[in-house]
Amino acid sequence: MRVVHTFADARAAEGVDQALVPTMGYLHEGHLSLIHQAKAETPVVCVSIFVNPTQFDEASDLASYPQDLERDLALCESAGADTVLVPSVDEVYPTPLDPIDPGPAAEGMEGAHRPGHFEGVATVVHRFLTALEPHHAYFGRKDAQQLAVIRTMAHEHDLDVEIIPGSTEREEDGLALSSRNVRLGDDRVRAAGISEALFAAADAAEAGERSAAGLQAMVELEMQVRGLQPEYVTLADAVWMKPVGEVHREAVLATAVPVGDVRLIDNIVLSIEGSGVVVDRGIRLDAPSILYS
Ligand code: AMP
Repeated sequence: MRVVHTFADARAAEGVDQALVPTMGYLHEGHLSLIHQAKAETPVVCVSIFVNPTQFDEASDLASYPQDLERDLALCESAGADTVLVPSVDEVYPTPLDPIDPGPAAEGMEGAHRPGHFEGVATVVHRFLTALEPHHAYFGRKDAQQLAVIRTMAHEHDLDVEIIPGSTEREEDGLALSSRNVRLGDDRVRAAGISEALFAAADAAEAGERSAAGLQAMVELEMQVRGLQPEYVTLADAVWMKPVGEVHREAVLATAVPVGDVRLIDNIVLSIEGSGVVVDRGIRLDAPSILYS
């Protein structure tokens, strides 16, 4: 495995099919499943580790973001990464770098609650995709709106890359894996209520409830009884991330919840199959996450 610090060094040789798995480090099984998926589908896999300052709307969140490069490199090696790119801020942001408009998928939900967040995401991902020119790039469904923003951005800018989604990986009790989970401390148990509330709505959807009002109200109530206050609970279409009145085609039921000092996001994906609704709840680990080892 090569560890490199510039885009020039991370580029694959002419004609070689390379996949990119962009991350902010402090890797967990969500990242590893993207690397495994990439490795199974593409000959050369580059994992990037870059804590992107421009996508943090809270300075304290950036300052407390967990980092451990030695640990991440060992995990990348064991997951089969060929190259790990660890660029400096100057390498990623040579001046002047025009911000990239994240487009209409960025307007609601996270975009409405985190000003500038998706402009930061779209700009950094555009920079990585144009500087590295990977043929495939992998992003988790856990960040459903980010996936939608990147897909529409890549299309809008005619980037010659296939954006491939990976399933949401969860801890044993259902909490979606996030590097921020290590900061939860005593709030860790309560945080499991986020996925429990979403799964209650998933059960209701599979039993016939299709309306946004019904599903959103159920998530809010289930969170309330668990002592959680979501910033939003929204049923949105999975492509444009616009609120919808009921499940049709593919929709996400997405939420953001502050738990102590940590802000967590999660979602489930609902699709119409035949006359019913099927829900993708992601995949649960059957052992404690490497985040805690
Ligand atoms: P991050 O390091 O949080 O920026 O995430 C890097 C990539 O991993 C993004 O594409 C995320 O969507 C993805 N990711 C983060 N958490 C999960 C998870 N629990 N399951 C699947 N993918 C994830």
